[in-house]
Amino acid sequence: LQAEIISVGTELLLGQILDTNAAFLSQILSRLGVDLFHRTTVGDNEERIARAVRAAVDTSDVVITIGGLGPTQDDLTKETVAKALDIGLVLDEEAAEWIRRFFELRKLPMVESNLKQAMKPVSGRAIPNSVGTAPGAIFEKDGKAVICLPGPPSEFNAMVTESVEPYLREKLGPTAAVIKSRVLRTAGIGESAMEQKVKDLLRSDNPTVAPLAKTGEAHLRITAKASDEETADAMIDEVETKLRERLGSHIYGVDDETLEQVVVKALIARGLTVGLAESCTGGLIADRITDVPGCSAAFPAAVTSYSNTSKVELLGVPEDLLEEYGAVSGPVAEAMAKGACRAAGSDIGIGVTGIAGPGGATSGKPVGLVYIGFSRKQGAHPATERTYSQEFTFSGDRRNIKRRAAQAALMMLRGELL
Ligand code: AMP
Ligand code: MG
Repeated sequence: LQAEIISVGTELLLGQILDTNAAFLSQILSRLGVDLFHRTTVGDNEERIARAVRAAVDTSDVVITIGGLGPTQDDLTKETVAKALDIGLVLDEEAAEWIRRFFELRKLPMVESNLKQAMKPVSGRAIPNSVGTAPGAIFEKDGKAVICLPGPPSEFNAMVTESVEPYLREKLGPTAAVIKSRVLRTAGIGESAMEQKVKDLLRSDNPTVAPLAKTGEAHLRITAKASDEETADAMIDEVETKLRERLGSHIYGVDDETLEQVVVKALIARGLTVGLAESCTGGLIADRITDVPGCSAAFPAAVTSYSNTSKVELLGVPEDLLEEYGAVSGPVAEAMAKGACRAAGSDIGIGVTGIAGPGGATSGKPVGLVYIGFSRKQGAHPATERTYSQEFTFSGDRRNIKRRAAQAALMMLRGELL
């Protein structure tokens, strides 16, 4: 079964609202195994809506329009679809009654134009609206269907779940398939290096494996189409195993799991705390850690230390280190990490210092050069005490370098906790 979505609304084209309805519906369609090859957005214009509907009906079995079912002048969708398909509209007495009652109950005056919402196709039916006034409509012609749904998300979502999904399931019959996806999140490996390792798997058909590049990380989305959820899951499991064999610890999480969640969880599980000393990342790591609910058990404090003086005064970085190696150096990153431990009273300290650009480069120290220091203070076991630093060179603009540095620091911390 092939479907197409047409979102109607000039405000969508102007970028004033995001098409969250289409995103919601796309997920439902994919779960049902309905093929969706096109999504169109048109403004509140009769001619252009009609053209989009006619083109969609030509190629798809089911066309779903979103928006433009309101009572006002610019709400044209239903009338336009009726004309485009040459299907008449009649008053749906039940819907009209529902609308009258809706206004009565709220003691609001009803105008005649409200009743235009109660018109339904002569070939097809109305879709009840359990949340608002505007009913939806299903137009049926030559085995094809055009489904008109209202724009307000609460009404839209209710209608999709209560009426459209069952309607599509019935249409699909026993051929109903499920499409399931799982995302493996990797970091610490470049996109091309990753692609090299999994190249052959990217060519597979079902499940498909698709790489998605993000700042400082890359995701692999595995998608399987099967007759039921269990089969799809088993197919995905098999590919996941292969990907894990190739990518090992570069895979830090699955689906919506973020790196900061993984790190906080690992810290709490081990009863450890981390303190931060952030120079070039300016608090970005602390921001990400504090996005995780319950992080206070693992995160006592961070110091954003930008000037040399503050590195000495707040973190106890020895002045001669700054003089000898410069603020952007391995020894200073290590001293910052130790200082973070002291300042936060934590088991682990992370220090980040680098050149985020665009200025600040010197010979031998280019923009993007970042040192990340790690320090673990002596606990019950003397062997746990260690301090070291790692050098990185990141590309991108200032914001990108900050984000990549924060990402690398969290990856380093995760590596230590594994
Ligand atoms: P309409 O049915 O076109 O009059 O839309 C009514 C309201 O629903 C708009 O003002 C938007 O706030 C919202 N809306 C319309 N279309 C969408 C959409 N595709 N996604 C999310 N919200 C929408
Ligand atoms: Mg509108």
